[in-house]
Amino acid sequence: MTTATLELSHSYADEFPEMAVAWQAGSASDPHLIVVNESLADELGLDGAWLESDLGLGLLVGTTLPIDTMPVAMAYAGHQFGGYSPTLGDGRALLVGELSRPDGSLVDVHLKGSGRTPYARGGDGRATLPAMLREFLIAEAMHALGVSTTRALAVAATGDDVLRDGPAAGAVLTRIASSHLRVGSFQYAAANATDPDLVQRLADYAIERHYPALVGRDGRYLAFLESVVDAQAALVAQWMLNGFIHGVMNTDNMLVSGETIDYGPCAFMDRFDPSTVYSSIDSDGRYAFGNQPAVAQWNLARLAETLLGLIDDDREAAIAAATAVLKTYPDRYLHHWRQGMHAKIGLSAEASSDAALYDELLNMMYDAKADFTLTFRSLSNVLRGDDSALRTIIDSPGLDSWIADWRQRLDDEGAVLATVADEMDRNNPLYIPRNHLVEEALDAAGHGDLSPFTELLGVVTSPFDAQEGLQRFAVPPDESFAATYQTFCGT
Ligand code: AMP
Ligand code: MG
Repeated sequence: MTTATLELSHSYADEFPEMAVAWQAGSASDPHLIVVNESLADELGLDGAWLESDLGLGLLVGTTLPIDTMPVAMAYAGHQFGGYSPTLGDGRALLVGELSRPDGSLVDVHLKGSGRTPYARGGDGRATLPAMLREFLIAEAMHALGVSTTRALAVAATGDDVLRDGPAAGAVLTRIASSHLRVGSFQYAAANATDPDLVQRLADYAIERHYPALVGRDGRYLAFLESVVDAQAALVAQWMLNGFIHGVMNTDNMLVSGETIDYGPCAFMDRFDPSTVYSSIDSDGRYAFGNQPAVAQWNLARLAETLLGLIDDDREAAIAAATAVLKTYPDRYLHHWRQGMHAKIGLSAEASSDAALYDELLNMMYDAKADFTLTFRSLSNVLRGDDSALRTIIDSPGLDSWIADWRQRLDDEGAVLATVADEMDRNNPLYIPRNHLVEEALDAAGHGDLSPFTELLGVVTSPFDAQEGLQRFAVPPDESFAATYQTFCGT
């Protein structure tokens, strides 16, 4: 922006008044900017200097919005840990409006932590500065890793304390998303008895924003379901390839765009173990690392249920068609995951023996309690003639034969090892937001020292480039930290 205004559309607020409440942000007694994402601002055509002005800051905490803005709290339902809640909604967030990207597509500008809304139930509507910085850091790390995600534009402190375990600085995160249309939005629309056309309008709106090739097509609702199924299969495969645990895969935290949303109790896994759970409330391990692909399919079935009436007038036929699409999910997921694994181990074409190669590697990693990130990163050096790091990580009798099989595959492909090794380093990150580093940075930020956060953000947003002096950012925590680490929702 070169002008001192910002033009936001309000298509969602206009088109879905039954799924939104016009609302204003709460007060902020001393707003100040903590971090702004200059490169995202640039991408969106926003002027970073304007964002830092009083007017910009007013937008980032929600207290002074551009004229004609129509902020709303969005309504949605959702299955939380398998139990259905008919009314969730933005309890502490507002959709400020939509910005047009240079290509004409819309993105939502959303404030998280902006005060209580009618959906707040018992919550205070607020968020803490460390929790919003955590979302900023992890979302931007995910983006740098190439994982589809909502983005973080800024974090601004409100100047007011919020009460958690003790008093903590309150803050608002400005989140940018292709949209905030959740599986739970469709569940809410489908449960709305007063307007039988609501799901159809919502589906057409989602199609226009996310799958425009389907606009006006016959059979578009089934094709929409198929598109979301594929987008989620691709997304969860990316999580699994990066050791990411979302932690709270409720249907209200799954977007039909296929972007990762809701960085609450999420965390990256250090040691490879599919049963890994960090969330303090996930005592049954429903959202454990290894369960994520199956949970996504369960959530997609909840989306399918809401679309049945649009898929076919005949309910049995609709169920059969939707089921057939849902059944494609496991193969789609495996396809995306295998493609990613291929790149991680430097192969270019798929062979039937590759599945065994992946399984053997993962089995050795599991047995050796190997660090997920460092195992993959160390493979490139094997091709450069130095297998010492890999051998330290996986001290297993099976390793020699695995390396031999892998190198045979590379030979069969006629691979130039030096080139492949460099390509692998562009697929296997060296720096991820390791839990102990994140906690250290957030703890300092909570005490007013932002420099560890800024440094860590710089490191994890260039995850593939090894840099002098950053060795400590690539090292797993000691065992006692890993064994006791816990994450929390709603902070
Ligand atoms: P989440 O676990 O972040 O997906 O949130 C689930 C629901 O709780 C959503 O409806 C949120 O808006 C709401 N929520 C979470 N934290 C708060 C809070 N501090 N105040 C009000 N609502 C909240
Ligand atoms: Mg949520």
